[in-house]
Amino acid sequence: ASGSTLLRDPRYNKGLAFTEKERDAHYLRGLLPPAIFTQELQEKRLMHNLRQYEVPLHRYMAMMDLQERNERLFYKLLIDNVEELLPVVYTPTVGEACQKYGSIFRRPQGLYISLKEKGKILEVLKNWPEKTIQVIVVTDGERILGLGDLGCQGMGIPVGKLSLYTALGGVRPSSCLPITIDVGTNNEKLLNNEFYIGLRHKRATGKEYEELLEEFMHAAKQNYGEKVLIQFEDFANHNAFDLLAKYSKSHLVFNDDIQGTASVVLAGLLASLKLVGGTLADHKFLFLGAGEAGTGIAELIALEISKQTKAPLEETRKKIWLVDSKGLIVSSRMESLQQFKKPWAHEHEPVKGLLDAVKAIKPTVLIGSSGVGKTFTKEVVEAMASLNEKPLILALSNPTSQSECTAEEAYTWSKGRAIFASGSPFDPVEYEGKVFVPGQANNAYIFPGFGLGLIISGAIRVRDEMLLAASEALAAQVTQENFDKGLIYPPFTNIRKISAHIAADVAAKAYELGLASHLPRPKDLVKYAESCMYSPVYRSYR
Ligand code: NAP
Ligand code: MN
Repeated sequence: ASGSTLLRDPRYNKGLAFTEKERDAHYLRGLLPPAIFTQELQEKRLMHNLRQYEVPLHRYMAMMDLQERNERLFYKLLIDNVEELLPVVYTPTVGEACQKYGSIFRRPQGLYISLKEKGKILEVLKNWPEKTIQVIVVTDGERILGLGDLGCQGMGIPVGKLSLYTALGGVRPSSCLPITIDVGTNNEKLLNNEFYIGLRHKRATGKEYEELLEEFMHAAKQNYGEKVLIQFEDFANHNAFDLLAKYSKSHLVFNDDIQGTASVVLAGLLASLKLVGGTLADHKFLFLGAGEAGTGIAELIALEISKQTKAPLEETRKKIWLVDSKGLIVSSRMESLQQFKKPWAHEHEPVKGLLDAVKAIKPTVLIGSSGVGKTFTKEVVEAMASLNEKPLILALSNPTSQSECTAEEAYTWSKGRAIFASGSPFDPVEYEGKVFVPGQANNAYIFPGFGLGLIISGAIRVRDEMLLAASEALAAQVTQENFDKGLIYPPFTNIRKISAHIAADVAAKAYELGLASHLPRPKDLVKYAESCMYSPVYRSYR
């Protein structure tokens, strides 16, 4: 290939890192200035440039440019600076990027499948240049983060999630496929925006929607085989639960909003037992918010307690209570409840507000998953602190503005007794001379390693036992040093090692359940997982 082709292909481009020999052998002389940089020097220069941007969106755009210019350098940078760059390529900045996708749009990333492609989805998949795909992340854009319906502009989410699959989980970039399914949008602002990139009509629903998804799921399996992992991302809950239930029987599917969230939160709870003592079964849980996150977490907690105590699921679910927009979910509301809430309708008189629910239920753990900010008021936190020596408070709603309370509020109002973690990151807090480091229940702890575990074992179905295995593996990575700071999640700096451990335990479970197709089973699964991980270090071309 000619030198300029090498420079233009992000897979091969190394910029100033091409050596003298490579410059001679590949017709690059003169196309680059004389200096030769190491990859480390390139990283240093890029981080310096990125930090000059004060607007987070500009950092995001610089990262996307880098991804399109020099893929290995993009991943090397992301891996080596994960704590700093995670909020740039993913939440919260990716949310703003999606909102403005129409105007920052340059070269299209990912695959767009709209109603226009009905009947031709298999052909569309064949247009994608890569033939071997291991992970698809697909959205229909209806519930992007906590931002609502962003239609076709949701593409930023599958693109961002898959870059984390590679950076944090080591899945090869070429085998990742981001997809946005466009069935329209109900977002009036977008419908009236001349720069909107999607279909300009209201969302298709019912049969029209189901048929398009059915065609897509069928085509994906036909084209990529039974072992392709299809991750549903940011679908509204009225479709998410049904899609997951339907396709988990015939496909390798995973919903990160339901299952990934559940697994990462359960991991935090298991770890926090080291700080509060007792077993999971000794606790009582109250949720504010009974949607994908809330009911997903609740179910996985109930499953883990059942696993530990051998008590039936119907019994262990009774330790868990949820409040939705209409109040505490109780049996007298059964008739009018959506399907996914029904298992949580326990015997109790109706209760309206959260504070009254806390007083009535007396939980040891309070979890916010409603998407509404500032709902853990001083009274609520004080009530939790009066009921418990060490109240566990998880404020999961994103982005930061929607957090149920801040880390500072949780520590101050509980007089330094709360164990706190949140969905969006908070800085450490000093209270009465002690520094508290709040944990972040970030799904990025789980899904990359979980996906890697499915891939390396050749799993053909996802089972709840695998989610439990992932939670236990993550909890086991929290060190005494982390606990001493009040942390219930490990720092992100070691995420590749953490992902390898999660992958190994998920894979082991797949083998145990007879769902693994990669045989024989490797002996040391942690080592094997590590050996499968994509390395972003430059290769030399001869
Ligand atoms: P969802 O499926 O739309 O569920 C939202 C739930 O909150 C519904 O049950 C809704 O009640 C309830 N709700 C809304 N307003 C309320 C109010 N004022 N009072 C009481 N309940 C109210 O959304 P989701 O996917 O579960 O996500 C919820 C939030 O969790 C989002 O902010 C998201 O960013 C966050 N989240 C965090 C993580 C993480 O930290 N790792 C992961 C996933 C999601 P009705 O059912 O009555 O409408
Ligand atoms: Mn999501």
